Amino acid sequence: MKTSFSLNLLLRDNIKKLVPYSSARDEFKGEASILLDANENAFGSPYARNYNRYPDPLQHRVKEKLHRIKGVPVENIFLGNGSDEAIDILFRAFCEPGRDNVILVPPTYGMYEVSANINNVAYKKVNLTIDYQLDLDGIAEAIDAHTKLIFICSPNNPTGNSIRRQDIETILVNFDGIVVVDEAYINFSKQPSFTTDLVEFPNLVVLQTLSKAWGLAALRLGMAFANKEIIEIFNKIKPPYNINQATQDIVLEALEGVEIVNEWIKEVVGEREKLSAALQVLPQVAHVTPSDANFILVKLEEPRALYNFLVDKGIIVRDRSKVELCEGCLRLTIGTPAENNTLLKEVKRFY
Ligand code: PMP
Repeated sequence: MKTSFSLNLLLRDNIKKLVPYSSARDEFKGEASILLDANENAFGSPYARNYNRYPDPLQHRVKEKLHRIKGVPVENIFLGNGSDEAIDILFRAFCEPGRDNVILVPPTYGMYEVSANINNVAYKKVNLTIDYQLDLDGIAEAIDAHTKLIFICSPNNPTGNSIRRQDIETILVNFDGIVVVDEAYINFSKQPSFTTDLVEFPNLVVLQTLSKAWGLAALRLGMAFANKEIIEIFNKIKPPYNINQATQDIVLEALEGVEIVNEWIKEVVGEREKLSAALQVLPQVAHVTPSDANFILVKLEEPRALYNFLVDKGIIVRDRSKVELCEGCLRLTIGTPAENNTLLKEVKRFY
C-alpha cells in the first residue's frame, strides 16, 4: 500500500481553483417534462431522431456497464473521446508548462510526446533496454522535483511486448507522481490488468480503449481508471459533453457482445502466432518480437523497400525502421486470415 502520495501537491494551481462548467441539468435532480434550459432545438432534427438533446455528461449508463464487465467501481472510471483525450487531460491537470516535466520510455506510443509538445511540457526520454523492458536505474536518475507523470505502455506499442509487472510496481512505489499504465492492447495479452491495483496505488492511472479489441475505433471511446479524486479532476477538466450520444448508444449495445469480442481476440492471437512463425522462418527476417498485442514488430532486410513494395500492392504497414531501438523494423497489424495470407504472400514475393 502506497502512503506517500499527495494529489494536492501534484495538481496545477489553476486546476485546484477551477470552477467547472455546470449546466442547469447538473443542478436539477428531479423529473422534467419541458426542457428550456440549454438552448437546444425542441423540434428535433429531421435527419436524426433523439439527438436534439445534449448527452449525459458523465455517461452513467455506459460506466455502469463497464463496471459490470471490468469490476471497476463507476466512481473510478473516466470516459474520454478516445484515450488520447485522457492523455491530454493528464498534462493539463498536472503539468505546469515551462516548469514541470514527464518521463517517456521510448520506443513507445507517439502521442505522449505530441501531447507534451502541445501543452508545452518538457519530457525526458529514458530508452527501454534492448529487450524492451524498463531501465529502472535510468528512470530513477531522470526523476526530479518537477517530474509529474511517467508513461508506461504495456503491452507496448510499437514493440508488442508486455512490460514486467514487478518493474511497474517498483515505479509505482518509489515515484510520488502519477504513473500512467497504457493498456490499449491488454485484451490480446495473458497479463492481468492493473485495474485491480487502484486501491493499492493512489498514483496509478490505467488507460484502456474500445478502439482495439472491441473494434470501435471510429466511435472514439477511451477509458481512464484511477482513484476517485483523480477521476473527479478529469471530469472537472473535460469538455462537458465529450462523449456524443451516438457513441454512448452504440457502445451500450456493443458492450453486450463480450463473448463475440473474446472469440475475435482468440482468432487475432491465433493469427498473430501463425504470421509470426511464418515470417520467422524466412531467411530475410532477423527477428519477430514476441507480441502480446494485435500487431508484430518484425526486423527484416530492406524494410523501406519492402514497405514501398507493399504500398504498391495496396497494403499499408507501419515503417518503424528509423525509430531508435526498432532499426530495420516494420510493424504489422494482424488483419483477417485472408489479409494476413495476402501480406505473407507479397512479402515472400518481394524477397
Ligand atoms: N494508447 C496506445 C498505446 C495506442 O496505440 C493508441 C492508438 N494507436 C491509443 C492509446 C489511442 O487510442 P484511442 O483510439 O482510444 O484514442
